[in-house]
Amino acid sequence: MSHEALKFDKIAGPLIEKAKQDGAETMWDRDVAMKSRCGFGDKGICCKICNMGPCRLSPVEGKGAQRGICGATADTIVARNFARMVAAGSSAHSDHARSLLHTLHMTSPDGDYQIKDEAKLLSLAKEYEVETEGRDIYDIAHEVAEIGLMEFGKPFGTQRFIKRATEGRQKLWKELGVEPRAIDREVVSIMHSTHIGCASDMESIYALTVKSALSNGWGGSMIGTDVSDIIFGTPTARQSEANLGCLEENMVNILVHGHEPGLSEMIVFASQDPEIVQLAKDNGAEGINLVGMCCTGNEVLMKHGVRLAGTFYQQELAVITGALEAVVVDVQCIFPALATLSECYHTKFIATSPKAKMEGARYIEFDEERALEIAKEIVTEAILNYKNRDRNKVLIPQEKNKSTVGFSINTIVGGLDKVVNSNVDQLGTVKPLADCIMAGVLRGAAGVVGCNNPKVAHDNSHLTIIKEMIKNDVIVVVTGCAAQAAAKAGLLQYEAKELAGRGLKEVCERVGIPPVLHMGSCVDNTRILRLVTEVAKYLGVDTPVLPVVGAAPEWMSEKAVSIGTYFVSSGVDVFLGTVPPVTGSARFTDYLTNGLEDVYGAKFTVNEDPVQLAQAMLDRIEEKRTRLGI
Ligand code: SF4
Ligand code: SF4
Repeated sequence: MSHEALKFDKIAGPLIEKAKQDGAETMWDRDVAMKSRCGFGDKGICCKICNMGPCRLSPVEGKGAQRGICGATADTIVARNFARMVAAGSSAHSDHARSLLHTLHMTSPDGDYQIKDEAKLLSLAKEYEVETEGRDIYDIAHEVAEIGLMEFGKPFGTQRFIKRATEGRQKLWKELGVEPRAIDREVVSIMHSTHIGCASDMESIYALTVKSALSNGWGGSMIGTDVSDIIFGTPTARQSEANLGCLEENMVNILVHGHEPGLSEMIVFASQDPEIVQLAKDNGAEGINLVGMCCTGNEVLMKHGVRLAGTFYQQELAVITGALEAVVVDVQCIFPALATLSECYHTKFIATSPKAKMEGARYIEFDEERALEIAKEIVTEAILNYKNRDRNKVLIPQEKNKSTVGFSINTIVGGLDKVVNSNVDQLGTVKPLADCIMAGVLRGAAGVVGCNNPKVAHDNSHLTIIKEMIKNDVIVVVTGCAAQAAAKAGLLQYEAKELAGRGLKEVCERVGIPPVLHMGSCVDNTRILRLVTEVAKYLGVDTPVLPVVGAAPEWMSEKAVSIGTYFVSSGVDVFLGTVPPVTGSARFTDYLTNGLEDVYGAKFTVNEDPVQLAQAMLDRIEEKRTRLGI
């Protein structure tokens, strides 16, 4: 465990100390108990997909077991394991989108869920070739939802949104045979092909992996982002705050954690209901303080400005403050440990999704048909728990920072319109961004995304890389927990322009934006994909030509592997700050870090040192600029 983390993070140290006094176990304790990670798993060379195994291969070439019982080589085993990670990541994001499509299908003018962004719905309807003329908006919404749901299992054709990509990408994917047909099918086909005795050819396994990743980036996640905007509104720029200092001493503190916005949206409304607020006051609190974490946190932050309690690694620390009346969770990235941890405090740990029932949690199943009613039930339970708070066990850190958030593409393009000469140029395009990059005012753009991982000092890699980028005039867009790290560090404020190089600072001042733009949750990485694509289309080039890079400095989840894979396949170089379990195959590692460039025009670079990783990103940007002749 990197105890660097504790030095770097002013909040973690005191709260971990407090946990010890309270007899509470944290991931830091479990990390110590784990001792070292398994070297075979670390290198991706163990296989347990059939019961002749488990097989583990020697990490030393030519010495020890070089093949599994069935004869599978390290190349096959590593490629299969990697493919299964991507399939799991794609399925998590895509199932999220499926839920949203079901919610879209049940929207009604007087129901809990309504259409907030009609223009976006109509534009999607047009793309889906749904008749809109003279029709009720809700009829259109329901038909769009049905077509969206067909994207998961349609028997013929290819996924609709791949037409949103540049012509170059579409042509390449067709030639390579990696156009995804249907989201679920691509996951199934990986599970089939990686069964014992199916695919053993490393490159063909990777091609299947790409199909599944593209079905996420240009399918599930992209649907998720669009539909979420349609139902809950497209984000606009707004102010908020971030870090555990957002918890309030004299209020009922409720943390929403997980991913799907259907539940958290309703909790937002329930916690603003005057009768419920009065109930909180009647129970001795000054009011209700809703805060978010991980991507559910990002969703309600982007759309309502709900303050962020923190990032992935702070989920236990939030409970250890002793000030949380409830942690309300849905799916993904939720530590099962929260159940036991909550027992050390008065906190109610409430699971809500049949997809993620958690042992030891209070379970209140979320049913979209009774969405607001259930949300009120949950908030009421938290309020009634306020009286159980043990004031002697409360430690709320004072750290928090202001942020400007809500940078959807609409917000960004709207901001860019401020610097357009409307006598000469069209409004509502990415031209100013493209012009700044071509002119060198901005050297390029970087997306910094992904998780926290105890293998590296928490948030340190995110922040080191982001600061290096902006200092060198590279504009940064962020999502996921990387965005939250930036929020906590104050990098999402306009004033952070002072940390930027001269060109980027000038852009920030002219457009009135911070140098780091929060574009949303992990499914919202598709906003980045679309922004890059729009710039490429505007310039009439394909994506790999652009001086644009992506980084996941502290990634840990399978979803992050799927995201990285769809970005590389979409022509954007991806820089990883934790090493994926592939190093047991020199060939597969070389394929990811070199070979892919010949195929997709982009590749992975891996380096656990954030300073070196940032330098590699800057070098790549300059290399692309030189190739472009700019
Ligand atoms: S598939 Fe092959 S390598 Fe994997 S566990 Fe079975 S025998 Fe071993
Ligand atoms: S960035 Fe990673 S840890 Fe954070 S919510 Fe997304 S997948 Fe989970």
